[in-house]
Amino acid sequence: MAAPANEPTFRESVDLMFNRAVALMDLPPGLEEKIRVCNSTYTVRFGVRLRGKIHTFTGYRSVHSEHMEPVKGGIRFAMSVNQDEVEALAALMTYKCALVEAPFGGSKGGLCINPRDYDEHEMEQVTRRFAYELAKRDLINPSQNVPAPDMGTGEREMAWIADQYRRMNTTDINAAACVTGKPIHAGGIQGRTEATGRGVQYALREFFRHPEDVKASGMTGTLDGKRVIVQGLGNVGFHAAKFLQEEDGCKIVGIIEYDGALYNEDGIDVQSVRDWIVKHGGVSSYPDATHTAEGADVLEHDCDILIPAALEGVINLSNAARIKAPLIIEAANGPITAGADDVLRSKGTVIIPDMYANAGGVTVSYFEWVKNLSHIRFGRMQRRQEEARHQLVVDELERLDRYLGDAWSLRPEFKKKYLRGADELELVRSGLDDTMRIAYQSMREVWHGREDVTDLRTAAYLVAIEKVAKSYRAKGL
Ligand code: NAD
Repeated sequence: MAAPANEPTFRESVDLMFNRAVALMDLPPGLEEKIRVCNSTYTVRFGVRLRGKIHTFTGYRSVHSEHMEPVKGGIRFAMSVNQDEVEALAALMTYKCALVEAPFGGSKGGLCINPRDYDEHEMEQVTRRFAYELAKRDLINPSQNVPAPDMGTGEREMAWIADQYRRMNTTDINAAACVTGKPIHAGGIQGRTEATGRGVQYALREFFRHPEDVKASGMTGTLDGKRVIVQGLGNVGFHAAKFLQEEDGCKIVGIIEYDGALYNEDGIDVQSVRDWIVKHGGVSSYPDATHTAEGADVLEHDCDILIPAALEGVINLSNAARIKAPLIIEAANGPITAGADDVLRSKGTVIIPDMYANAGGVTVSYFEWVKNLSHIRFGRMQRRQEEARHQLVVDELERLDRYLGDAWSLRPEFKKKYLRGADELELVRSGLDDTMRIAYQSMREVWHGREDVTDLRTAAYLVAIEKVAKSYRAKGL
């Protein structure tokens, strides 16, 4: 989605936010420029014969920074894809990977296509041809450039891309690591599909662990009972909203989709809306909430937490002043323009920035890439050994239990939980939780520790740019 006409483009918006942060740093001007610019963008136009006619498609793969390789970033399928957008998204990937310490440079890809216009077989033909164009230029490669899902793509497309790369590189033992977000049977990892939404949940949990930060937003208490509005019930928005509703006691009062918004002050069941969308193609006829045709208006409704999880530029100069939520977590990339960011900051709105908030996806992608390179599932070597050691402790406790009689006994649920060694899903969740906590703490240290930093976004940029700069310096730049 293009930014409103009177506002900078998405890439310019990212640059403005970058500039605001580097103004507070002491970087040599040359290095500042080197970090900011996008290293390269490859444009491809290719034809595919569909329904007896040749269709020409345009796609992009942009590499923002190669201070670490491979570079990493999703592939988006949408009609709105353009060079400015992929470059902005590639830049965000550089900063995101640095912030969460995923050892990658930043990249992003996109194809101008509306996936709803084609059937599965046609989508496979187009995706394979796009993958072929990128792979033959090493823009898909386990050691150089590793894509992942983004808007309009998912496991299915990643499986086709992995298979296409393998066909072109039959002797590459690490072929599975050429792309992440694959289905489990094609080399994927447990927990990747929901990882970005899970990361949004972990980010909010960490925010609410710090009363000082909650106070800065003007709220009190915990996540329990907080009223949430989410925009976009796709991969990221659906999982984030579902987990917050089912596990943290949040009330989802608004859901905004491409065909309007649903609102119900008493809460909306996220899973049933998702099932409705799958069956009916949209939210407009959903029975248990009020439908508003002008979906974007609901961004301005009263709530505690606003989760834009669809497109960029949706909170801009035309509506920023009317946004009531005291806390916005940017599950999507770039949902708030630079101008809107200024307006919201001056109102005191706390914004948990995209480069942190949606980093769950790349974090679990990192685990998947490591799994593919090591050719072994996480936990396979340790799990039973861990269980055997725990059994020793339980045996001893049971001996004590017999000795103490009625005075003390081992609770059966403790025994069940303690005896189970961690499987891959539990390890992935633990790694993701740890990553989200540590990255948040690194941002808040700067946010509260420096007088010239008054928001989390600037803090995030400072932490990320410092890491990228150190890496360039170590290379002798
Ligand atoms: P998706 O395609 O699965 O879902 C997007 C949803 O937004 C869909 O349900 C779509 O119908 C809805 N939508 C489209 N236009 C809309 C509009 N005008 N108003 C409201 N809703 C609209 O995409 P996704 O993977 O969930 O990605 C969403 C955002 O999250 C993007 O900004 C993406 O870059 C970012 N992101 C995704 C991942 C990931 O792992 N998938 C990781 C990091 C960041």
